[in-house]
Amino acid sequence: MPTESGQEVSELSDADLAPAIDALTSASSVTVLCHLQPDADTIGSGLALAIALDRRNVPVQVSFAEPAILPDSLQTLPGGDFLVAPDEVADEVDLLVTVDCGSVGRLGRLRDRLDGARRTVVVDHHRSNTCFGEINVVDAAAESTASVIARLLDLMGAEIDKDVAHCLYAGLVTDTGSFRWVRPGTHALAERLLETGIDGGRIARALLDTHPFGWLPMLSRVLGSAELVQECAQGRGLVYAVVERSDVGDLRSEEVESVIDIVRTTSDAEVAAVFKEMPDGDATDGPLWSVSLRSKDSVDVSAVAAQLGGGGHRFAAGYTTRGPIAELVSALTDALD
Ligand code: AMP
Ligand code: MN
Ligand code: MN
Repeated sequence: MPTESGQEVSELSDADLAPAIDALTSASSVTVLCHLQPDADTIGSGLALAIALDRRNVPVQVSFAEPAILPDSLQTLPGGDFLVAPDEVADEVDLLVTVDCGSVGRLGRLRDRLDGARRTVVVDHHRSNTCFGEINVVDAAAESTASVIARLLDLMGAEIDKDVAHCLYAGLVTDTGSFRWVRPGTHALAERLLETGIDGGRIARALLDTHPFGWLPMLSRVLGSAELVQECAQGRGLVYAVVERSDVGDLRSEEVESVIDIVRTTSDAEVAAVFKEMPDGDATDGPLWSVSLRSKDSVDVSAVAAQLGGGGHRFAAGYTTRGPIAELVSALTDALD
């Protein structure tokens, strides 16, 4: 996801990265953990690192807790062979690296693997990162975790060839919203990755611009019932939409995740939210919702999300909650006031 960075430069010097480089270059086995409901930044970062470690002959596993299957659009990334199911992740490992995870909660049921690791490194770009590793490489000015991984790979002396570049570009293009949220250095990194011969247009299209026809009627239903709460957020306005399971049918997570990018463009509202009903077996205390929040420039939605049990970046955040939608909307409007 985009950072709030604007024109910020990195908060980390090469010296700050030295402990992580030492851990990465001396590890005898590595587990790389990506966040729940993975996106291209967490998987691209994880697979790029795995490819580089494998080339150093280090045994490496990459995993994420949920869902059971990698989203369709991410299956095109190189390095997929390093992915293993959560149950197959070794209980004990020399080094565990988390990528794009702001807190242990983002590891889901794989969080217990932290206990079986001799060393842990957290690589991330969320300002809200709780620094839960022994070594924390958290660059809140970085536009993507993939950008931080690129820097680590350079310092490790690892080659960024076409396969690694493909993985990193996937994270960079998605977390910058197709290069909308950028900083000095973003395009230089993109240029370097493109020079390896990757097809940037094709990668972006597979990740961001490919939906089945059924996406269109789903959007029509969901956007048709969007609501504008003008008085919310001290009059700056909230626009929200609700995606119920019945709207989704057999559409993929990619179609559901696309909705916020349309809703957030509403000029009448500073804050946009999409409530996404999650598939959930145990619904006795109400349906489970994953909520996406976005703001334009004056509301820190990461603070709002944190208040509601989640986290994220200043202008892009989220949380998970349970209950009837009317109550959730009112909890959100309260948190925004
Ligand atoms: P999303 O709207 O799902 O694309 O998420 C936007 C950003 O919010 C992500 O980059 C995460 O950093 C953060 N986020 C989303 N859901 C959660 C959650 N349940 N807990 C913590 N952070 C979250
Ligand atoms: Mn990210
Ligand atoms: Mn992410």
